Amino acid sequence: MNIIFFGPPGAGKGTQAEIICTCLNIPTISTGAALREAVKNETPMGLAAKSAMESGSLVPDEVVIGIIRDRLAQDDCKNGYILDGFPRTVAQAEALDAMGQKIDTVISIVASDEKIVERLSGRRLCGVCGASYHLVYNPTKDNKTCDKCGADLIIRKDDAPEVVKSRLETYHAETEPVLAYYTEKGLVKSIETQEGVEETTRLVKQALCI
Ligand code: ADP
Ligand code: ZN
Repeated sequence: MNIIFFGPPGAGKGTQAEIICTCLNIPTISTGAALREAVKNETPMGLAAKSAMESGSLVPDEVVIGIIRDRLAQDDCKNGYILDGFPRTVAQAEALDAMGQKIDTVISIVASDEKIVERLSGRRLCGVCGASYHLVYNPTKDNKTCDKCGADLIIRKDDAPEVVKSRLETYHAETEPVLAYYTEKGLVKSIETQEGVEETTRLVKQALCI
């Protein structure tokens, strides 16, 4: 099954994608994670993407389309995949079609702007393995270190309040139109994000009939 997780920043796409890909035994491909890794390693792509990411705007389409093209060509994507954070523009969605990739379902996770601001202010990330947490909604045992690997939790630079505001503007202007693109194709299933991770997972599974 080829699945897209769609939604505003902080809706919980990444958290749900991590859970569902284990259930289905398929990989999750996150352009955000790939870009953060490139920034961390100071690759040419990372250096070019850094300022866009830190200001809350989008990285150029060619860059993320290249990441996705390379990744989908790998063997482990043959039985299906989850896309988290891609496509984020209509041009990216069209590029995916042009690659001959057939999407089965788009899970749209709905969350209000108010909710998103609250979510992102409490978000923490593992500095080593990248696992995502929330101080209130998805805490670790001590809210200081990662439950999976024990490394220290960090706050993403782009979760700062000014940047969140700009990410939301970018989302409404450039990413929301992608939903209309897939709605027209009859592929969208929408669910409202819930207070708890597990409750949201239940709705996602229901939508995917798994
Ligand atoms: P979130 O969904 O919480 O905003 P992500 O980790 O998906 O965070 O993305 C972080 C940043 O990486 C985005 O704000 C954007 O700058 C960049 N990015 C990620 N995916 C894409 C994409 N498909 N197109 C353009 N930029 C992207
Ligand atoms: Zn970790």
